[in-house]
Amino acid sequence: MAETDLLARPVRAETALYEVAERALPGAGLGGYALPEDVRFVVAEARGGRLISADRREYVDFVGGAGANILGANHPAVVAAVQAQAAKALHVFGTLNTAAIAYAEMLLDVIPCAEKLIFTTTGSEATAYAMRMARAFTGRDKILKFEGAYHGNHDYAAFSQFPTGPANYPLASADTGGVPRLLQDTMLVAPYNDLEVVEQVVRAHGHEIAAILVEPVQRVIFPAPGFLEGLRRIADQHGLLLIFDEVVTGFRLALGGAQEYFGIKPDLASYGKIVGGGGPLGCVAGRADVIGLTHPGKKGQPDYAYINGTLHGNPIAAAAGHATLEVLSEPGFHERLNARAERFYEELQAVLDRHRLPAIVAGRASFWQILFAAEPPRNQLDVLASDQARSKALDLELLRRGIYVLPNVRRFISAVHTDEDLALALDALDDACRAIS
Ligand code: PMP
Repeated sequence: MAETDLLARPVRAETALYEVAERALPGAGLGGYALPEDVRFVVAEARGGRLISADRREYVDFVGGAGANILGANHPAVVAAVQAQAAKALHVFGTLNTAAIAYAEMLLDVIPCAEKLIFTTTGSEATAYAMRMARAFTGRDKILKFEGAYHGNHDYAAFSQFPTGPANYPLASADTGGVPRLLQDTMLVAPYNDLEVVEQVVRAHGHEIAAILVEPVQRVIFPAPGFLEGLRRIADQHGLLLIFDEVVTGFRLALGGAQEYFGIKPDLASYGKIVGGGGPLGCVAGRADVIGLTHPGKKGQPDYAYINGTLHGNPIAAAAGHATLEVLSEPGFHERLNARAERFYEELQAVLDRHRLPAIVAGRASFWQILFAAEPPRNQLDVLASDQARSKALDLELLRRGIYVLPNVRRFISAVHTDEDLALALDALDDACRAIS
């Protein structure tokens, strides 16, 4: 079919699309989210910071592809790079490709802790491999993570990411069926921003712990002054590795991610989302002696850490990521994005205050969320203590007014949100506040 025919092909009406989706996909969804029927929509096209539904409704997009789309959904530089690469090689396996090498060189320059790196397909794989490398390096099995931190979809990540109340620290609990009970012993949990509990756990279990795994900004919770520094110190004192999960913070907080923004260097860092520029790519970067354990020449040795994947270093995703990072490297990019975002949060807060709602915009840099709480949360239990029924009601009202947010999920500002996009969001919030007051 000629390209013009494809473009002209009418999109089926949403009700017809949902009939297929209901038949084929559990919850008529693609994963963990299924929006209520009256607000759900099917994306037919995206333009910058806007999504256009199959029924031709337009949304201002603050989900941003779960954070991947820092340049919006189809930035011209990224589209051009993908098209050029697609014409050369869509996919190869086993031997190197030029796009992956060019991108690896750039990533080594940009990521502060990167002496070497390995490519993966997703952020989940990146955190799973980072854990494997840490275990192979230290000969220890356990990983200490934080309550409410999200590290992906694999079995080890599925502990204490969606807590419903306080844990019996450091006992972690699985959030899903299908996770072998045996694995519970390999994951320990502590509250975020609580160095005292971390010290206690490491004093009791340090000799069994391979690594501390942390989201440097956990969802919408920023680290208290000294927290990340404290983790670095504790890891060094006890010979554990420190892993930053930079799947969200990487290239977003600053070009050098949380490591640059907070000035702390981990031993390993995992990446997804922005690193693939909207395509399937992740990576783990870090110390040469740890990443070096994946060297295929080490096969058969006890400290060899196996990594392999059909799409690792996929040339299309590498080209998309490379083009994205080139735009992000423009001087002042992050300062502009973060300053604009923070001005927007002040304006959102002013709307909430005008309606006398007991809510705050928990937001810094380009991460934000509206919480019905008095103070920014310090850990996941603070988030749980906020009035989540009320924030969900507000988010649903925003959806009804063409603002795409996922209820009670952290959201993002992208570099391509226009003043008009932000003004629409402020108007929608004003209306939404009225609706729930
Ligand atoms: N770590 C963090 C901090 C994440 O936010 C996510 C995705 N939301 C992941 C890991 C998993 O990445 P992916 O969805 O690409 O597997």
